[in-house]
Amino acid sequence: AEAILLSFPTQAYRQAGNHSRIRMLTHTLGYPRLGAFREIKKACEGYWKGALDEKALRSASLEEKHRRWRAQQEAGMDLVACNDFSLYDHVQDMSFMLGVIPERYKPLCQNVSDLDLYFAMCRGYQEAGYDVTAMEMTKWFDTNYHYIVPEFTRNQDFHYYSRKCVEDFLEATSFCVKKPKVVLVGPISYLLLGKEKTDDFHRLDLINTLLPVYMAVLEDLHHAGCTWVQFDEPFLVTDLDDRTRKLYAEVYGVLRQHFPDVHFLLAAYFDGFGDNLQTAMSLPVDTLHLDVVNGLYDLPSVFRDVPPDMNISLGVVDGRNIWINDVNESLGILGLAVRELGHDRVMVSSSCSLLHVPYDVRNEPDGGTLPDFLGPWLAFARQKLDEIRLLADLMEDEVSADAFYGLAEHLKQLEKRKYSKFLRNSEVRAALDALAGEPVGRRQSIAERRVLQQEWLQLPVLPTTMIGSLPQTAELRSLRKRYRDGSLSAEDYGAGVRVLITNAIRWQESIGLDVLVHGEFERTDMVEFFGEHLDGVAFTGNGWVQSYGTRAVKPPIIYADVSRKKPMTVELARFAQGLSERPVKGMLTGPGTILKWSFVRNDQPLSDTAMQVALALREEVMDLELAGIEIIQIDEPGIREGLPLKKADRESYLEWAVRAFLVCSGGVGPATQIHTHMCYADYADILDALIRMDADVLTIETARSDMEVLSEFAAAGYPGQLGPGIYDIHSPRIPSVRELNTQLEKVLLHFAPRQIWVNPDCGLKTREWDEVVPAVENMVTAARKARHQV
Ligand code: GLN
Ligand code: ZN
Repeated sequence: AEAILLSFPTQAYRQAGNHSRIRMLTHTLGYPRLGAFREIKKACEGYWKGALDEKALRSASLEEKHRRWRAQQEAGMDLVACNDFSLYDHVQDMSFMLGVIPERYKPLCQNVSDLDLYFAMCRGYQEAGYDVTAMEMTKWFDTNYHYIVPEFTRNQDFHYYSRKCVEDFLEATSFCVKKPKVVLVGPISYLLLGKEKTDDFHRLDLINTLLPVYMAVLEDLHHAGCTWVQFDEPFLVTDLDDRTRKLYAEVYGVLRQHFPDVHFLLAAYFDGFGDNLQTAMSLPVDTLHLDVVNGLYDLPSVFRDVPPDMNISLGVVDGRNIWINDVNESLGILGLAVRELGHDRVMVSSSCSLLHVPYDVRNEPDGGTLPDFLGPWLAFARQKLDEIRLLADLMEDEVSADAFYGLAEHLKQLEKRKYSKFLRNSEVRAALDALAGEPVGRRQSIAERRVLQQEWLQLPVLPTTMIGSLPQTAELRSLRKRYRDGSLSAEDYGAGVRVLITNAIRWQESIGLDVLVHGEFERTDMVEFFGEHLDGVAFTGNGWVQSYGTRAVKPPIIYADVSRKKPMTVELARFAQGLSERPVKGMLTGPGTILKWSFVRNDQPLSDTAMQVALALREEVMDLELAGIEIIQIDEPGIREGLPLKKADRESYLEWAVRAFLVCSGGVGPATQIHTHMCYADYADILDALIRMDADVLTIETARSDMEVLSEFAAAGYPGQLGPGIYDIHSPRIPSVRELNTQLEKVLLHFAPRQIWVNPDCGLKTREWDEVVPAVENMVTAARKARHQV
């Protein structure tokens, strides 16, 4: 470590300025909130089931808020984030704060508590004679987090409804010794995140009625003693027109004028500002936060043009990935910033909210699921706070022994990882090289395949199917738990899973589904499962990350070259198919999704990792075909969300993402039917890529966005068969046959019946059987009715 320390250029960086007396401030844009052991998930779900009352839920929330603030304080953050906690979603919290409550929930307002109203908007409400659907949910930029989409009407009424942010601030004030910084979604991003219910206005037209409510909130915060507000304006990293840019200047001008002495920190993340940088730097805010991990390219212009009265917050610690910080690089950047601006104008932070990483590496037990060598290379949220502190400490005039030790430890681990023999697999490398430049994909056209497949499968018009997973019941979870803690043998666990599969197949046959699924009972999660079965991928015991509401996933960690140890799904697929004459779909997760929902190594291009995963999956696809599986579904919900935020970067991404899908799916014969599935999001921007993916059948989410997307598929002449999800599985509501037929009618306005499949909009694992059974039966009945009419 000695030599490393000597060669380390801190000294040079520190000589940079003579304004170096004041410490750099540290903070993070937000912290995880489901609980390190998913306490909040459990509390909410307990509340929904009636096992917990509101008071108990509130006290569980306060405990969690305290834990999060304690962590930030202990780690030495100068500001602690507040109002970033949420019981479901922070965008929904904003809607609730601003009184954006769609008409259909109004009857509930008088009769249920605010908390129940809040949850009704998130989850739908079907109780005491009410029957209201949930609000739409969609991906938060290019992450796997989902937010509740605000719904706006032309004459949208905004009023200050929920005081949660002030209450949070007051709780933080009484708990924290450090300064609380209130996190709000900024007004323009808030509007842009939403959706117009009619097309006779643009949501940004609402800014004049919205702004007074923001002011009322700020007034309230100001009175409560709040001096720091973080406005999240992530849309500033997307392509914006001049009108929107101008609006930014106007809106922040007004806010500034009314609140001259509140410190405004404006944060954008997930990319650099690019063309919006000048706009961002022209805003009258005190501090501008930059995501340095994804937007390093902004820095030269920032250093050159940042106004003298503006501070910058540098997000050098990656809030989206879990590798320890490259301290050399970070110190280099901070050093340059300090040289240009001085210590007092530079803050150290995470690139974005730490919502997207798990809580704490220390919650992974020794001898747990992570390989020993991997642990020291990882930084989860709690470790990232330490890294932020460490970087700031290393920029001090007097560097403490602790900081030097932290630095040496980081450098040692970075070095170890770089030269680790565990990362390279020469066979995989050779296979990858051999693939380069080769044509991939299927040999026959989609039309030719369709004829062959129909001859073989003999499916009725409007065939019915499900997306894959079936309820993960308490019984199943206990089976899995006993298997994991060793009290159940592998054979007994396997036998238990087979019973569930058998029952699922019997049920599907009995209600007359045409293409069956085995139910994915052996998988806790569609990505985690493959993570566990691939070489080069590690999985955590407790690395939960919020996906939506109370739903969390444990993203695998792709740390080395990926290969398949042995067949992963073939045995159970063969077993399930053996139970029925009807086709049972083989079920895989595609390369784009495995990548998008994992923490991926950052030491080689994403596309290389994607191709390695695709090659491993291709072997699995071929084995499934050999085992007699006629329909193979390769889920790719992650492809859309991996789409770069700026249009200019998209084509190169789609090129490798589509190629990876083709590598994975393209080896089968023409009679084997390839399905793929995708969840929410706008498909309009990637229709062309969807066509190039060349799947025989594509099932998509459409139910929650009211089938709007279908006209776009029709207009693009989508050549494959489509299964537009006709009901929303994210809500416990049971759709009626009539409602489902109406949905189908909407579909058939755009497409010939021969092109259409009938299915729910996603997998059913989060639902209960007593919701699934009637819902899917209704769906089959609706499809039968529709068949008679076409
Ligand atoms: N086959 C998966 C399931 O049914 C697909 C889930 C998804 O798209 N998110 O659970
Ligand atoms: Zn889905």
